[in-house]
Amino acid sequence: MAHIKAVVGEAGRKLGLRTAQRPDIAYGVKDGYLVQVASGTADGGACAVEIVRYVDASRDAAVRSAVAESPAVSKGIIKSRDIQIGDGLAIHRRRRRLFRSVDAQRVGSDVEALLASVKRACPPPPASCRLCGNTSASEPMLLNDVVDRVCPGCIERLRHDVRRASQQYDDLPLNLPLAVMAAAVTAAVAALAWAGIAVATNRMFWAVAIGSGALIGYCTTRVVGRGGIAVQGVTGVFTVISVLLGQALFLGWQVHKHAQARSLKVDWKVFTAYIPSLLWADTGSTLFALGGGLLGAYYAVKRAAKPKLEVRVETTESARLPTSPSRP
Ligand SMILES: [Zn+2]
Repeated sequence: MAHIKAVVGEAGRKLGLRTAQRPDIAYGVKDGYLVQVASGTADGGACAVEIVRYVDASRDAAVRSAVAESPAVSKGIIKSRDIQIGDGLAIHRRRRRLFRSVDAQRVGSDVEALLASVKRACPPPPASCRLCGNTSASEPMLLNDVVDRVCPGCIERLRHDVRRASQQYDDLPLNLPLAVMAAAVTAAVAALAWAGIAVATNRMFWAVAIGSGALIGYCTTRVVGRGGIAVQGVTGVFTVISVLLGQALFLGWQVHKHAQARSLKVDWKVFTAYIPSLLWADTGSTLFALGGGLLGAYYAVKRAAKPKLEVRVETTESARLPTSPSRP
């Protein structure tokens, strides 16, 4: 990632953009259009994100076909799967190729190519607030890390909307009994799966333990329809129960096999009373299963968290000036 930041900085300087407070973002105005390069990810790999904002969303279709017909796309230099156009934004992700890095020259030409296509389909946007047209917002700025022009009044309104949306999320009714039921059913299924796989292979799999926790978290959130601390708590508790139950079932099966081989009968009532001490005695396996389950639950629960709603703004005044002498 360190490398991609340097590439973004260099490409930004070549394009005459200013570096943001985050050094992996450069933005500015080029030929009247809002332009940005930044580091990002594509399918989990680092990439350079190249953005041209033409603002007018009614030109999306025209921009889309102009980009599709551009020489860069027809020559295969820019791949259509890496392009995303909508809502007045044209975005291209320059991925690094296997064993090769993204270079600043490439990113610079990508932006030029993207800009040339946009120019053919849409005139440059007016230097005013994208939302209300107020000309006090003539300077480019970053709104949630994307280049934009929005006036202070509209930013205040956006912040207000976000606060209200956040409050509405908190006010969503939470059906806790339903969450508990969903978690309990999934926990039982996961316990049976864990024991079943352990019986079939006589081994314990880290992936299965993680999967159990993830499944419980995922299903509970889906059934309830929202996340939040209560749902996270329920998920965590039932993951622990599921893992312990799965281990107990596996131990029960082992005892059953042992008894069968000696034509003995197992007193399951007595066995049930012994389960806690048996789990305790086999601490290694229990901890192994618990660790995997909780790791899976952690990821599922993270997804069950309340979505992050925010309005982050960086204006020109707060941006750092580029320090490189190579800038014209
Ligand atoms: Zn405005």
